[in-house]
Amino acid sequence: MPFVIAAPCVADYSCLEVCPADCIRPRPDDPEFDTTEQLYIDATSCIDCEACVPACPVQAVYATSRLPAKWAHYASINAEFFEGTQ
Ligand code: SF4
Ligand code: SF4
Repeated sequence: MPFVIAAPCVADYSCLEVCPADCIRPRPDDPEFDTTEQLYIDATSCIDCEACVPACPVQAVYATSRLPAKWAHYASINAEFFEGTQ
C-alpha cells in the first residue's frame, strides 16, 4: 500500500530526506523543484516504511488506503507526476 502526498504539502522536502527508497520527487536539484507546488511519491518504488509520515510537519502524507475522501484524487496526482519518467 504505497504512500501519497496530499494537498497540505509545503514542499519543504523533510520527507525526501528520510526516505530510504529515494522515491519522492522532485528533489531540490531537479529542474521542477523551483516551480512545484508539492512533492510526490512514486508508488512503484515506495516500500511502505512510513518514515515520511512523522517527518512531515503538516501531515500531508497518507497511506493510499487512509487518504481523506476530499484528497482521494491525490493518488492519481502523485502517479501522474511520474508518468513518462520511468
Ligand atoms: S513510506 Fe517510506 S519508502 Fe514510501 S515514500 Fe515514505 S519514506 Fe519513502
Ligand atoms: S515533509 Fe510534508 S510538507 Fe514537506 S515535502 Fe514532504 S509531504 Fe510536503
